[in-house]
Amino acid sequence: MASTTRIQVLKRFLLLPLACKALTAIGLIALGLQAHAADYTGPLFDAHLHYNEEAWDGKTGPHPPADVLARMKASGVRAIVANSRPNTGSLTLAELPQTRKAGVTVVPFVRLYRNRADYSGWFADESIYTMVQAELARGTAAGPYRGIGEFHLYDSANADGPVAKKLMVLAEERDLVVLAHVDDAAIDLLMANTPSQGRKLRLIWAHTGIGGASVERVDALMGRYPGLVGELSYRPGLVCDDNQLCPAWRALLLKYPARFVVGSDTWVNQRWQHYEGLMQGYRQWLGGLPADVARRIAWDNGAALFGVPAPRR
Ligand SMILES: [Zn+2]
Repeated sequence: MASTTRIQVLKRFLLLPLACKALTAIGLIALGLQAHAADYTGPLFDAHLHYNEEAWDGKTGPHPPADVLARMKASGVRAIVANSRPNTGSLTLAELPQTRKAGVTVVPFVRLYRNRADYSGWFADESIYTMVQAELARGTAAGPYRGIGEFHLYDSANADGPVAKKLMVLAEERDLVVLAHVDDAAIDLLMANTPSQGRKLRLIWAHTGIGGASVERVDALMGRYPGLVGELSYRPGLVCDDNQLCPAWRALLLKYPARFVVGSDTWVNQRWQHYEGLMQGYRQWLGGLPADVARRIAWDNGAALFGVPAPRR
């Protein structure tokens, strides 16, 4: 229902006699027309952002830095996990003075992909491991890289590929956060390949089981791995009517309020075109949560992962 129509209904309601008001109120609640919780209005931490070469290749593109920074600013996004194919996009955002001017903190990640061909073979490609080490040694203008990814595993068995194994060891040893678009079986495999058997690795699970992991399965993995964090873009079944959380997901987020984050996943330019709307969508369902939980999922959890200070207004 459009908000102007809602206002008209409320105006008419206020003009009714008292007895009538009681009956009408029951009717309005039954129709789902009761007042909605206000949207979340605090800062957002975009924990899954890409600045790929189709958006801007350093010279031209539909989304130059001024465009993407304006979108973040308009959306109240005050920190981003930045990764890009190739890594030059993240490096640009990390070094531009305009990024700081827009009030955005960049948390840079090493992307494992130099090009599209790397998506399907990175887990067994030694040259990817060499590239990651070179990037880590070089660092960025915004400080050292803080993580690796996003990477994909279309077949979870490839989590046992030789380079995937080495990267999980490297991540845990260097305290790098992993951003992984994988299924639930791969979460177990990746965690098993760390020196601590998954007790220490911090892993942001992109889309938190987009491939069909049930809420119960996500719950079990959250219980097993203390460093597992769920990122909620593209998660099927997350929101129901009126863009509010579905009951099972609401219960899971309330059970683990320190373990979920939100992200834009600007993997194609279309996501940049709708960036402000995506963030507004998060604000709507965050507003339906208790205020402290909303703030944690929107900002605090991402900030705590990387030690990003709270933004000054
Ligand atoms: Zn992504």
